[in-house]
Amino acid sequence: MNHPDVIVIGGGTSGMMAAIHAGMNGARVLLLEKNYKLGRKLILTGGGRCNVTNRSPREVFIDHIPGNGKFLYSVLEQFDSQDIIDFFQTRGVRLKEEDHGRMFPISDSARTIRDCLINEMKHYAIEVIAGEPVEEVLYNQETASVRGVQTSKATYTAKAVILASGGKAYPRTGSTGDGYRWAKDAGHSLTDFYATEVPLLSNDSFVQDKSLQGISLRDVNVKVLDKKGKTIVSHQMDMIFTHFGYSGPAILRCSGHVNLYLKESQEKIANLTIDLIPYISYEELKKLAEEQREKQVDNILRQWLPDKLNGLIQKQVGIQEKSAYKQVNHSIQEALWKRVKAFPLTVYGSQPLEKGFVTGGGVNLKEITPQTMASKLMKGLYFCGEIIDINGYTGGYNITAAFATGAVSGQHAAWFSLSS
Ligand SMILES: Cc1cc2nc3c(=O)[nH]c(=O)nc-3n(C[C@H](O)[C@H](O)[C@H](O)COP(=O)(O)OP(=O)(O)OC[C@H]3O[C@@H](n4cnc5c(N)ncnc54)[C@H](O)[C@@H]3O)c2cc1C
Repeated sequence: MNHPDVIVIGGGTSGMMAAIHAGMNGARVLLLEKNYKLGRKLILTGGGRCNVTNRSPREVFIDHIPGNGKFLYSVLEQFDSQDIIDFFQTRGVRLKEEDHGRMFPISDSARTIRDCLINEMKHYAIEVIAGEPVEEVLYNQETASVRGVQTSKATYTAKAVILASGGKAYPRTGSTGDGYRWAKDAGHSLTDFYATEVPLLSNDSFVQDKSLQGISLRDVNVKVLDKKGKTIVSHQMDMIFTHFGYSGPAILRCSGHVNLYLKESQEKIANLTIDLIPYISYEELKKLAEEQREKQVDNILRQWLPDKLNGLIQKQVGIQEKSAYKQVNHSIQEALWKRVKAFPLTVYGSQPLEKGFVTGGGVNLKEITPQTMASKLMKGLYFCGEIIDINGYTGGYNITAAFATGAVSGQHAAWFSLSS
């Protein structure tokens, strides 16, 4: 099909959904994918089980997309998590809900989701050409409209082209940021890129000497602070000390905020604190310790903290080894509990964008119509998925954003192409 109504570039999460919706709306659709297999990133999500969506209420959902989630209101009015759930369930894919609203296929296999999307594309007679990278999107600059695309093998013309080529994170899945160039060729601007959902790097002494390496903390509250000590964001989840810094769910969620803070403030380091025992207040901890004043500090802390961290904190506040709690003077006791409630960390950056799960930054949203996902600058050009300046936490938020922008862009691209 050299003259389809709609061309979708990228057979990933958003592109497959876009193609299906364009097909559902009567368009003849061509999907071009550079890999030989579709949905390579999608099948990595949720630890290979595919975190297909998240059914938390709309406001909570938007809060979990710190990178411009509010832009999605109009899209979600048209296609939201419930529509994603219905989409798969009506096509025979049974889903289950896990913690924090995360939805997975009952099969626990991401391939179930990918196969469903592929079958649905067949149902709408969508032509899929895999293993054929797009090299150029062709524009008629005089009329500011789309002409088609040029691949490594052929030229295809269409009135509508959807850029679903993903971000820059995890390039081995095929998302190498090619689409940004085509967006720029159309006159679009890009916001600055930064890594999100990525481990953080630190020169803290206990990272450098690897004394805490491998220690994981369950359900701790990690805060990112600005230079005045004000909390930018906090997340209560698990975390882990690594040989280069910090990782684990709480850290990954904080990472985009850290990178933005470092960029915007021009500071060299960001300060973080960990509340190591968030479910017991400072006053309550002091009271509990006082009730056990005959015991060694070591034994009191052991109830809550891993041994190495326990030892390090006592050393940091100046408690002699094997001291009984009653032997520790009042100000040191206070320093101890302060440190337990706000254990300080510093970070100087993160692993690179390529190692993150999600790309921060992308095609400027001011230049996209939120109700249709159409370019405001180039007629017939549409966007969906991670290529645009939207990033969420893992947990089904990005996938929902990709499916939803995919469905909406597909529908509107079809209407545009068939009516012009
Ligand atoms: C390991 C991992 C785990 C994740 N877990 C979660 C999670 O649990 N929850 C969550 O919400 N999000 C998660 N994400 C993020 C989520 O998967 C992505 O945000 C989402 O898949 C993006 O969809 P997309 O369609 O924009 O891009 P992609 O799915 O990356 O698709 C883009 C496609 O375009 C193709 N392409 C690129 N350039 C060209 C070209 N020149 N020609 C033709 N085709 C091209 C690529 O090969 C690719 O197939 C995870 C990401 C990773 C890497």
